[in-house]
Amino acid sequence: MSELGNIKPLNEWFKKLDTTPVVISGPCSAESEEQMIATAKELKKIEQVKIFRAGIWKPRTRPNTFEGRGLDALQWLNEVKQETGLLTTVEVASPKHVEMCLRHNVDILWIGARTTSNPFSVQEIASALQGMNIPVMVKNPINPDINLWIGALERINKAGITRLAAIHRGFYPFEKTMFRNIPKWEIPIELKSRFHNLPILCDPSHIAGKRKYIAEMAQKAIDLNMDGLMIESHICPEEALSDSEQQLTPADLDQVLRGLVCRLNCV
Ligand code: PEP
Ligand code: MN
Repeated sequence: MSELGNIKPLNEWFKKLDTTPVVISGPCSAESEEQMIATAKELKKIEQVKIFRAGIWKPRTRPNTFEGRGLDALQWLNEVKQETGLLTTVEVASPKHVEMCLRHNVDILWIGARTTSNPFSVQEIASALQGMNIPVMVKNPINPDINLWIGALERINKAGITRLAAIHRGFYPFEKTMFRNIPKWEIPIELKSRFHNLPILCDPSHIAGKRKYIAEMAQKAIDLNMDGLMIESHICPEEALSDSEQQLTPADLDQVLRGLVCRLNCV
């Protein structure tokens, strides 16, 4: 029935993380060793946060903006792991990124929205992952095309990756809206209905684009029984080199998580 033939049941990797929802947090971009360690130490105090995210190579819309710290940042990420015990996750957009992450003990990879939109790039990443044993999360493509999203998941799955998850981060708004990306909740709902074993997380940060809407978007994801949240946080959001308007301090993230009302299947 499912095109994602050999996907592992949800329980085997995601539910093992033992919180509902599982929360992934950390800065949009890794900027410095101090920023990474300071953010991670605060996040470690929040029970639901199990995975630390940071962009190492940033897919910026225009050149001559901050494009990430690259290799140095992978070293800082390793320090985060050693100091806090948090799992780590990084966005990969090429076989070279995959290879560097594997060499530097990154725990989980994710594919960003721009990359998911391009089957050639996804296939190259899938080929680099052949025979590797690492979980991979796939963000939705920029445009609201569920088949492109499923296709990316299938390509990674066919490479032998069975620990997969999808991340819903909204879709490019062709008209001016209050959100940075339009959620189109019907698309993750449809994905969940077709792939029961596939964990689906929501990234309210990139949907909202503004701090003030994040709590509401996160609640909506919980109401839809999504499996986790990826929320950007920064020790000093105003000074962030990317996405400064949508990042939360760890303390504000804690408040948002405490405010979430779990209505179904919550532990
Ligand atoms: C990010 O997570 O910082 C990012 C670039 O996200 P997206 O691929 O959803 O735009
Ligand atoms: Mn970001």
